[in-house]
Amino acid sequence: MTDCLFCKIIAGEIPSAKVHEDDYCFAFRDVHPAAPAHILIVPKQHVGGLNNTELLPDAALAACLRAAKTIAAQEKLADGYRLVCNCGAHACQSVQHLHFHLLGGRQLTEKMG
Ligand code: AMP
Repeated sequence: MTDCLFCKIIAGEIPSAKVHEDDYCFAFRDVHPAAPAHILIVPKQHVGGLNNTELLPDAALAACLRAAKTIAAQEKLADGYRLVCNCGAHACQSVQHLHFHLLGGRQLTEKMG
């Protein structure tokens, strides 16, 4: 998609701190980290969010979820991590390209909201 921030990052048109890439997904550090490790895992194919995954091959969705374990190992998050996906306005989704936040590197709170 031409006017999508994350599509431009995937294409290399906007710089990012890449941590992982495979055929289906791309992962890079969040520019405003909420934890010592805060990485965004995104499918290479543009879909707006979790409500649009029917447009995405299952392999792409699986690749994003499986990348979490790979990245957590790279980031040495042996004590655990959290994977978050904001979907829509009530969840404060700000970029309309499906992405998963991988958060770790410190004790996260029990509170989810
Ligand atoms: P969300 O609010 O769930 O849509 O998450 C979007 C995330 O993208 C936010 O955590 C932003 O800090 C992050 N973000 C925005 N622009 C960039 C960028 N150029 N590089 C890396 N992360 C970004």
